Amino acid sequence: MTLSKARSGVVYWFRNDLRLHDNSALHQAIELAEKQQTWLLPVYVHDTALQLTSPWGFVRTSAHRLAWTAMAVQDVSQQLVELGSQLLQITGDPSEVLAELMEHFSASTLVCEDIAAPYEEANIQAMQQRGIDVQTVWQSTLMAPDQLPFEPHDVPDEFSSFRRAVERQTFAPAQPVATVTTMPALPNQAALGSVHELQHALGHTTDPCVILDDPRSAFPWSQPEFHGGERAALAHLVKYCSRDLPHTYKATRNGLVGANYSTKWSPWLATGALSARQAWTAIRSFEAKYGATDSTYWIGFELLWRDHFRWLHLKYGERMYWKRGLSDAPLPTLTHNTRGFEHWRTGRTGKAFIDAGMRELNATGYSSNRMRQNLASFLIHDLRCDWRAGAAWFESQLIDFDVYNNQGNWLYLSGRGTDPRGSRRFNPDKQAQDYDGDGAYRRLWN
Ligand SMILES: Cc1cc2nc3c(=O)[nH]c(=O)nc-3n(C[C@H](O)[C@H](O)[C@H](O)COP(=O)(O)OP(=O)(O)OC[C@H]3O[C@@H](n4cnc5c(N)ncnc54)[C@H](O)[C@@H]3O)c2cc1C
Repeated sequence: MTLSKARSGVVYWFRNDLRLHDNSALHQAIELAEKQQTWLLPVYVHDTALQLTSPWGFVRTSAHRLAWTAMAVQDVSQQLVELGSQLLQITGDPSEVLAELMEHFSASTLVCEDIAAPYEEANIQAMQQRGIDVQTVWQSTLMAPDQLPFEPHDVPDEFSSFRRAVERQTFAPAQPVATVTTMPALPNQAALGSVHELQHALGHTTDPCVILDDPRSAFPWSQPEFHGGERAALAHLVKYCSRDLPHTYKATRNGLVGANYSTKWSPWLATGALSARQAWTAIRSFEAKYGATDSTYWIGFELLWRDHFRWLHLKYGERMYWKRGLSDAPLPTLTHNTRGFEHWRTGRTGKAFIDAGMRELNATGYSSNRMRQNLASFLIHDLRCDWRAGAAWFESQLIDFDVYNNQGNWLYLSGRGTDPRGSRRFNPDKQAQDYDGDGAYRRLWN
């Protein structure tokens, strides 16, 4: 199918940017619709491919991750209604259903955020091959590409070199753009029908809603404060600062138990309910009022890791997904340890610290950074499993699954990424001693 000319109307596709604050891509769509004096239809696609079985034999996205995302979709949907607009939710293959939708409305342009990962890029290419005018906007990093001290494709591989180069220049990420408070009109009612009917016609079904409600959780997302939507994300950001937690972050960030040892921003950052620039700006305002310390700096330091994995994806694309990764070193001759993987996945390795970590992950959809490093290292270096199987399990389970961060960290720990030290094995006994000396974490998840 090739789309004919003389079209009018803009479709905005919400992807991992489920918010109205700091959303440059949404602004671009609004400006385009206003300039062309036409309508704007916001859309979210529940991608059926994400519910298929992965090559490793389990579902690509768990029901609880779907539920977490559905909360963010619902929150944007309610906010759009308050602005006189509506969010159309469709289920299917994004490139197929969006092409159908563009045809149905004779829309001229589709605008969405840019995601530099192979599967996400393939969706855009498939639509462009059908003749659809797709405008993508890069917006998920702290800095815009033209603020970097190098071309995005020349970003240093080593995180420290990247960070130092960025910090050498007067590093100031772009300010968050204004929150969207007005929306252009929807397509006229005759064309739109009721959103409900159209959703039905395009095959949207309600997601299964499995909220993991475990009182032991470090991210208790059954509680209103930890709801998955943008409004809860922004409220959490304010609360995090008002409790003076940025001043203790560096000392507590390797904690394992409780809601306050780290920022807990990642589940909202992953769906885009929170923008990284908004979080960064909140910390800079906190510093201006209450003082900058090594601890407040360190939060920004971690957000730079997040940026670095994004730029690496832009630079290396598919290579981030190869078994050999970015390394030319020969691959081990051992094949994937299926039995070991099953023990790891179900928290039955016999190593109490690791099993506690896997049980927490599976029961809550969240895991601390310290535990993630241990879980990944144990799978790769002790059980000798294929690192990509572990990455796939995290993808399925984590409510904060972020394609760049997950792939980048697994590749890094496998020793086939950008770690200058090569391979990095964490000794689980020493780690348990250092970070769970009194055994509280192991008892909590035994
Ligand atoms: C094997 C493995 C897989 C991971 N998978 C993911 C993932 O799918 N999604 C995800 O968001 N993070 C992932 N991380 C990174 C990190 O563990 C989480 O971002 C962090 O634990 C989230 O909790 P927080 O928001 O309280 O983090 P904080 O410690 O409060 O950090 C603040 C923010 O900085 C960023 N950040 C912190 N550490 C890292 C890191 N190592 N890499 C990149 N960004 C970082 C995150 O955006 C985080 O929200 C992974 C780490 C490992 C070792």
